[in-house]
Amino acid sequence: MTERTFRPTTPDLPPVATVTDTTALAQAADATRVASIGARGPRGEPGPATRTAAEDAAASPGPDAAGAADVPDTPGPAREAAAVTVAEPAVVLYEVNGSVARVTMNRPEYRNAQNSKMTYALDDAFYRAAADPDVKVVILAGAGKHFSAGHDIGTPGRDIDQSFDRRAGLWWDHVGQLGAESRFAREQEVYLGMCRRWRELPKPTIAQVQGACIAGGLMLAWVCDLIVASDDAFFADPVVRMGIPGVEYFAHPWVMGPRAAKEFLFLGERVDARRALDLGMVNRVVPRAELATEVTSIAERIATMPRLGLALTKKAVNQAEDLMGLQTGMDAVFGLHHLAHAHNAEVGKDSLAGHDARSMRDARRGSESSA
Ligand code: ZN
Repeated sequence: MTERTFRPTTPDLPPVATVTDTTALAQAADATRVASIGARGPRGEPGPATRTAAEDAAASPGPDAAGAADVPDTPGPAREAAAVTVAEPAVVLYEVNGSVARVTMNRPEYRNAQNSKMTYALDDAFYRAAADPDVKVVILAGAGKHFSAGHDIGTPGRDIDQSFDRRAGLWWDHVGQLGAESRFAREQEVYLGMCRRWRELPKPTIAQVQGACIAGGLMLAWVCDLIVASDDAFFADPVVRMGIPGVEYFAHPWVMGPRAAKEFLFLGERVDARRALDLGMVNRVVPRAELATEVTSIAERIATMPRLGLALTKKAVNQAEDLMGLQTGMDAVFGLHHLAHAHNAEVGKDSLAGHDARSMRDARRGSESSA
C-alpha cells in the first residue's frame, strides 16, 4: 500500500490520508476514520500506479479546456510544482467525525467534473456511510472553488468507454453496444439510476455547495435532503442549448416549481444562491467562509435525533414527493432526453449536438453579451 498525507485544496477540510489500495481501505479507515476512495480504475483494476506532480501539472488543461458543461471562467487551483512521485489523488475523499460522514468530490482541477470513476467512488462512499452504525448524517461536498461543473464531457479522465461493475440495476454493460442502446444503458446506470439510489440512502444527507453547481452538478445536490449554499454559489442547467430537455435526473419542476423550471431551462442562465433560496431550491445561504462550519453544525444537530426516526421521516417526505409525480415524471422525461440524444446523433455530429465544454461556455458568453 502506498500512502501519503494529502491536503485537499479546500481550506475547509483537514489533511486526510490517501490510499491507493482499496483492500487496505478498511484498515486505514479503522485506524484514522479517514480514507479516500476511487484511486483504482474500472472493474477493480489498479489505477495508474504513480505519476509525478509535474506530469500532473502537464496534464492539467487550464481554464479553457476543462471538461464539464458551462465551465466557470476561473482557473483551477494551483497545482503542486515539486517533481516528487506521489500516489494519484483519490477522486472522492471520505472522513468521519463523530456521527457525521463527509464525502468530498476531489477533482478540483476540473471543477469536480463527474466521470464514472468518481460516480462509483461516490457510490462506495455512500454505501459505506449507510452501513456504518456510527454515522447518522452524511455531507456531500466538493473540493476547491466549485461544487461541481457537471458531467465530464472532455477532461483527460473522461471514461465513458470503460466498463464498471454496475450497481444501480441489472441492465447490461453499455460498452461495445451501439447507438441508443449504449447511451440508454449507460445513462440509466450512471446518471438516473445512481442518483435515485443515492436519494434513498436512509440517513439525512446535506449538499454543501459553493461556486458552480451546473447541469450534472445539480443532480448531485438535488439527491441530497438539504442544500446549504455559500453566497458565491450559482446554479444552471444549460443543456437545452444541446437540444436536450434538461439533465437526466429531471427534478426541476419538483425542486423549484414548474414555472421557475421553465425559465431556468429556457434561459439556461445562472441563478445565484439568493434566487435559489427564494425559489425554495436551497435551504440556507451563508458566507463562503462559514459554509463548512455551518453545514457541520446542522449535521451535528440532526445527528442528535434517533436514527430510525430520521430514516422514517426521510422516507415519508420522499414518498410524498413521489406521490407528487417525481419518479414517474423523471421516467417519462428520461425517454424525451434520449429522443433528443438520438436525434442529435442522427442528424448531426454527436449526441451532444456537437457541443463540448468550450462551445457551451462560448455560447453562454455570446448570449450574455447580446442581452
Ligand atoms: Zn444524457
